[in-house]
Amino acid sequence: MVKTRETIVFDEIDKDGPQSYAATFTVAPEELHSDELAALGPVSMTAEARKGELRGEYLVDGTSRFTGDLTCSRCLEPYPFASSSTFHLRFQPRSDVPRAEDEEIEISPEELDVEFYVERVIPLRDLALEQIQLSIPMKPLCNERCLGLCTVCGANRNREICSCVESALDERWGALREIQQKMKKGES
Ligand SMILES: [Zn+2]
Ligand SMILES: [Zn+2]
Repeated sequence: MVKTRETIVFDEIDKDGPQSYAATFTVAPEELHSDELAALGPVSMTAEARKGELRGEYLVDGTSRFTGDLTCSRCLEPYPFASSSTFHLRFQPRSDVPRAEDEEIEISPEELDVEFYVERVIPLRDLALEQIQLSIPMKPLCNERCLGLCTVCGANRNREICSCVESALDERWGALREIQQKMKKGES
């Protein structure tokens, strides 16, 4: 069994060389502030950390693994998903990048995976939260062909065929009827 070790301490790497970490975290979906995440199982993390080439730089390579439920953006039903991914992060000290408050920060492509640190201690749990955040799609779909909800009665059209007559054409006629009704009301 892998020993739990969940805090990356840069001083330890300076002193003893590269370090390995592994831990499993319980994360409540609310912590992610994501409407799409309905449920989340235990999050397994492993990571290796070593010194980078730059002064004060540390490289962290790791894996994250978890399962959960996402809410479909069309039918609003939760559906299971599994994520297994690797990550490569570079930590650089924030103090080495002096910037005026109002100076525009230009990020070069190489800097995209750089995280600027102040504290020399990085909880693996923080990296877990980042990985979960990154794994959540903008518009989750239970199925590419999800039919969504009937805009008239709200029925889940993946499961039932409601009797509402509805097509793109009907919707347009509906909008037109609304306008006509408003005009009539305006007249009387
Ligand atoms: Zn759906
Ligand atoms: Zn309907």
